[in-house]
Amino acid sequence: MAERWRPVWADIDVDAVAHNASILSGLAGPAALCAVVKADGYGHGALSVARAALAGGATWLAVALVEEGVALREAGVDAPILLLSEPPVEAMPEAVARRLVPSVYTHAGLRSLGKVVGDGGFPPVGVHLKVDTGMHRVGSDAQDVASLAQTIADDGALRLDAVWTHLAVADGAGPDDRDFTALQLDRFEATLDRLAAAGHRPPMTHAANSAGTIAVAAARRDMVRCGIALYGVAPTPALAEELAALTSGRRLRPVLSLRTRVTFVRELDGGERLSYGRVRSLARRSTVATVPIGYADGVPRRLFDQGGEVLIRGVRRPLAGVVTMDQIMVDCGPAGSAPVEVGDEVVLLGGQGAEEITADEWAGLLGTISYEVLCGIGPRVPRLVGRGEGRHPT
Ligand SMILES: *Cc1c(COP(=O)(O)O)cnc(C)c1O
Repeated sequence: MAERWRPVWADIDVDAVAHNASILSGLAGPAALCAVVKADGYGHGALSVARAALAGGATWLAVALVEEGVALREAGVDAPILLLSEPPVEAMPEAVARRLVPSVYTHAGLRSLGKVVGDGGFPPVGVHLKVDTGMHRVGSDAQDVASLAQTIADDGALRLDAVWTHLAVADGAGPDDRDFTALQLDRFEATLDRLAAAGHRPPMTHAANSAGTIAVAAARRDMVRCGIALYGVAPTPALAEELAALTSGRRLRPVLSLRTRVTFVRELDGGERLSYGRVRSLARRSTVATVPIGYADGVPRRLFDQGGEVLIRGVRRPLAGVVTMDQIMVDCGPAGSAPVEVGDEVVLLGGQGAEEITADEWAGLLGTISYEVLCGIGPRVPRLVGRGEGRHPT
């Protein structure tokens, strides 16, 4: 897009990506770091995150969709790209032609893949066989793994490069969660033992997401698949502390900040009710700033009821009314007290002065997780890729 007139943007700090990648690869090493950049890099922009993560020590990338892998290849990314689910049979030719590394877990998928590779005269394709150990989303049942591995071994077009699984509650602090993670890893080991007994020894195994990487040393294995931590957000606040304890105090740095500017200011009398629904009245005559971002950009409508705040001039200020599609109204305090002006920077997520609003803060207010907050920032918000700016001292 040529011109942008609306002052709304997300700063993407690629130095923070590289910093986070170096913390994670330092922690997990000698295991390789796979940077998970699905869903456009959790809303940050997959390409810039992928490049920065590779510069920071990641050697693999992972995406959810063949389409996402193709986009990275078209942009010139050459690193191995893992597809986290088995590609639809219709997408196998493109997956192969683009050298994407398929996850596999069905005989139909293997047949289709083998045929595409054989018919196309491609060199043998290495696959990552996924086993379900308790997440129950995708993956082969334990009892089918050996026969899938045999099908791969019997097909000259395919090669078993890895066996892997995914943890359901590695971020859970409760004893049940830790027990279930241990159970998943035990099931995984048992599956690998059965495969070895049948003569299948994959050169690589992997199991850990960000939470597994931080909290479960036994899950790190040959490669860790990190998403949220790469973006500078620990899977849970407790895991931020656990990570700092493991890395002599090094902390993840948030990569994204969501910023805009005041476009309209006025004073309104006490008792006035703002925005749709006229839900709450001003306690006294107040300065109210209008800010040009709304739920169409990923600022959830419920943020108002739940006590959401923004930063202006380094001060936390509450929303004064319901979030609308394109704009919010902010209570800047008693009239005359706060010199807020059109053009002032407004921070929805990120730091300003000594204050910071994190994706975890929103997630806590909204009853969700940071992942959903970050992925929810809409396509109408331009991502401005830059370095540092010192908003988050190391
Ligand atoms: C999304 C995803 C990851 C990354 O998870 P984080 O919690 O963001 O680190 C890893 N593995 C699989 C299979 C995934 O789907």
